[in-house]
Amino acid sequence: MIQQDAFPPRITLANTPTPLQKMERLSRQAGVEIFFKRDDFTGSELSGNKVRKLEFILADALQRGADTVITCGGAQSNHCRATALAAVRAGLSSLLLLRTDDPANPPAVSGNILLDRLAGSDVVWISPDQYRARDEVFEREARRLRSEGRHPCIIPEGGSTALGAWGYVAGMAELAADLKRLDGDRVKPTTIVCAAGSGGTLAGLALGARLSGEPVRVVGVNVCDDRDYFVNIIDGICREFDRAWQPHSSAGIPPYDIVDGYVGRGYALSRPEELAAIRDLVRLEGVVLDPVYTGKAYFGMMAELAKAPRVFGERIVFIHTGGLFGLFPIADQFTGLL
Ligand SMILES: *Cc1c(COP(=O)(O)O)cnc(C)c1O
Repeated sequence: MIQQDAFPPRITLANTPTPLQKMERLSRQAGVEIFFKRDDFTGSELSGNKVRKLEFILADALQRGADTVITCGGAQSNHCRATALAAVRAGLSSLLLLRTDDPANPPAVSGNILLDRLAGSDVVWISPDQYRARDEVFEREARRLRSEGRHPCIIPEGGSTALGAWGYVAGMAELAADLKRLDGDRVKPTTIVCAAGSGGTLAGLALGARLSGEPVRVVGVNVCDDRDYFVNIIDGICREFDRAWQPHSSAGIPPYDIVDGYVGRGYALSRPEELAAIRDLVRLEGVVLDPVYTGKAYFGMMAELAKAPRVFGERIVFIHTGGLFGLFPIADQFTGLL
């Protein structure tokens, strides 16, 4: 177990510990125990997983004398919205590079975009091609801000850096304490399932599981790209993490699994069966998932359970990583499902 005082500097943003709730009806249906770790409760406007990463990332930005953070994401990025709001709390300005097909005609102000705007973020719309070459755009915008006498700090996509991974090293320590509260000293084997979008959450959970020593297996369902893409990213984060904070460890890259095959129509594009699964869970448990991440990961998890009921063992903890605001801009896609 890693001691709290070994953690890098941190500011408090997230409402933690978040509840670990058993989904009683869902568990009965599935024939295995299914718990939700409610990281959608990390805050109201700061809801979700990104706020755990930002506790470490923004502490570091402040320490380095930054006055502005620059980050990037899709148009309805939860990470950008969380960064915009957390920046305000930390006394920083924010600049968001948001991806859209036609930057000259950006999407309507709705969902996360409304919150970005309310927070007073500067928004620069960029094309998918520019997004692929985003390091150049980051540098260009940082140069521009420096020429105005500002001190920018770049936060890579999703806050999925080795430093950001500390958010879920801390999250895993919290979850280990939750499991001890349930089981006492002998924690039952548990599979932790989360969505993988930029990999930082899964990397942090895997590192945290290694550090905690509890009998937990960590599984991500990718919502974009493919398995190889995420293995490359996550292994890279873990190597960087160990170089920086565990230089004497010989533990190696921690184990984790990726369940591929549930990207569906593509990133942030939903299929009717995914939306129906979101609806059915609301009606079963009163819990609302998002269409881009948790809905897809949940759909994938339940599809795997339908094929093989014990594929994740006797107990699952699904991390509800938030994203509710992304549901409202696609309300029309629920036509016929309600
Ligand atoms: C970003 C995000 C994820 C994915 O987390 P990563 O660390 O980027 O893999 C999952 N769920 C929600 C709601 C998110 O916003």
